[in-house]
Amino acid sequence: MSEQIETHLKEGRFFAPPKEFAQRARISSMEEYRRMYRESLEEPEVFWGREAQGLDWREPWERVVEWELPDAKWFVGGRLNACENCVDRHLGTARRHKAALVWEGEPGDKRTMTYAQLYRQVCLFANVLKRNGVKAGDRVLIYMPLIPEAIVAMLACARIGAVHSVVFGGFSSESIRDRLADSGASVVVTADGGYRRGQIVTLKQNVDHALEGGETSVQRVIVFRRANLEIHIEEHRDVWWHRELEYVSAECPAEGFDSEHPLFILYTSGSTGKPKGILHTTGGYLVGTHCTSKYVFDLRDEDLYWCTADVGWITGHSYVVYGPLSCGATCMIYEGAPNWPEPDRFWRIVEEYGVTIFYTAPTAIRSFIKWGRHWVEKHDLSSLRLLGTVGEPINPEAWMWYYEVIGRKKCPIVDTWWQTETGAHMLTPLPGVTPTKPGSATLPFFGVDAAIVDEEGREVGVNEGGRLVIRRPWPSMLRGIYGDPARYREQYWSQVPGCYFTGDGARRDEDGYFWIVGRMDDVLNVAGHRLGTAEVESALVAHPAVAEAAVVGRPDEIKGQAVVAFVTLKGVCKHRQHFGRNCEGMWRK
Ligand code: AMP
Repeated sequence: MSEQIETHLKEGRFFAPPKEFAQRARISSMEEYRRMYRESLEEPEVFWGREAQGLDWREPWERVVEWELPDAKWFVGGRLNACENCVDRHLGTARRHKAALVWEGEPGDKRTMTYAQLYRQVCLFANVLKRNGVKAGDRVLIYMPLIPEAIVAMLACARIGAVHSVVFGGFSSESIRDRLADSGASVVVTADGGYRRGQIVTLKQNVDHALEGGETSVQRVIVFRRANLEIHIEEHRDVWWHRELEYVSAECPAEGFDSEHPLFILYTSGSTGKPKGILHTTGGYLVGTHCTSKYVFDLRDEDLYWCTADVGWITGHSYVVYGPLSCGATCMIYEGAPNWPEPDRFWRIVEEYGVTIFYTAPTAIRSFIKWGRHWVEKHDLSSLRLLGTVGEPINPEAWMWYYEVIGRKKCPIVDTWWQTETGAHMLTPLPGVTPTKPGSATLPFFGVDAAIVDEEGREVGVNEGGRLVIRRPWPSMLRGIYGDPARYREQYWSQVPGCYFTGDGARRDEDGYFWIVGRMDDVLNVAGHRLGTAEVESALVAHPAVAEAAVVGRPDEIKGQAVVAFVTLKGVCKHRQHFGRNCEGMWRK
């Protein structure tokens, strides 16, 4: 540890990792971090080659990385199966009968799935997909509640080389329609409904609306029965998940796919009205999520790890599914809202199951503060050993509350900065070594060459604001925007010469710590979720009453940012029935 940092620690400006944690951590000194970090930049082949050995490869790679920006390939020539790495490879070990998923539904129903059970369910469903015509490279849209079957469906796609595109269950029919049109998915996997804040979300009905009228690429809709809803079954198109299982075997050998075989598309907001389909491939993504799960969460077999994100977001992909399962972790998942039926639902879960690692968004933490600490104090949270945050900047007050009230000053906090595009953590503390400062995502993870630059690409000085860029490729980076290579180049690789531009503004302090200031493009971050202002504007002007709309963000105490829309209405006819020019009646403003 540098003298400067030691002095700061004495002055109380840093929070040192708790001793007990540090003693057991995989990386146990700042020297070790710096040595590994240097190696990851100076000899990426050696560093990443060694890390990738932590996974099972069907065929070894010939070269670790090959790049000609904006394109990069990782583990070139290697072959592997992402599902096999998350499931099958644990079967020959003591993890075979260990819980992979510990699930609680919002109404209080509970299920545990061991790795052996997960394997069986994934194989069965992979055969269901095949039976319904899905082949390697085909796109499958998944629109599910947060139930084990959502994860089974993702892994089943990966097993047969199909490309999943998960759409968050809170999104509308229009979102499904847009994503289907862009991805050309042939199969939709959904449920009749899911539970959220005491209500049932009618997922299948939303899919029906999305498929109404017009051309569609969808041949099949596979429906899991979750909420016992009466639903419409379209003949020759819709099938029940449980019925399909009757026709298939539980044997589905995994095949090796090229390291650059597409694994998934995940749509995220950009600065235009149309969300972009971020494409991730297999080998590099898996190495990145595996390696960060291992070092940043310091995952152990005895942990019960809970990332509260939905699988509809990148955090759910990387840190509910691929990262932790490839490490053989036991993952807690919960279907519903944090304040249902009361604001202590999360703490009930932590206490009842003995959660040891808890990873959530600053917005959730600010809501807990608002609801009051008495909801926390009712519960024994002593099982917790590590806390994490993701999705948006955390204000120091919320950080301190998290540290003191939830972590009882015993748990390190990892504030992880990363994006849908980066696939895995990029700036983050390592919990056993990095002294933390409330509100800073601290230092770069291995292989991440981060810098803050001005418009010309020149590095700015200490504590000067600028653009956060990454100066060289990393294994889990996006491989493109689905179907739009020009937009990929223009958006990420053209704004700062030779660098990946994150879209975020940041500064770096005298200790080299990164502080994220916020987005520099027309993207808002509301409750940790990205919203393009242009997207909200185009939704508003789609309404027949709206002539013009302009959207901006404003600071919000809980959600970080809130949306403010300025809307000009069209004239309304005197019958108050028609908007626009179609009424032959009189106009009123
Ligand atoms: P998404 O791709 O939806 O996960 O959003 C990524 C964006 O969220 C980033 O570009 C940042 O603006 C913001 N973000 C994510 N994690 C953090 C963090 N730990 N601190 C500050 N901002 C964050």
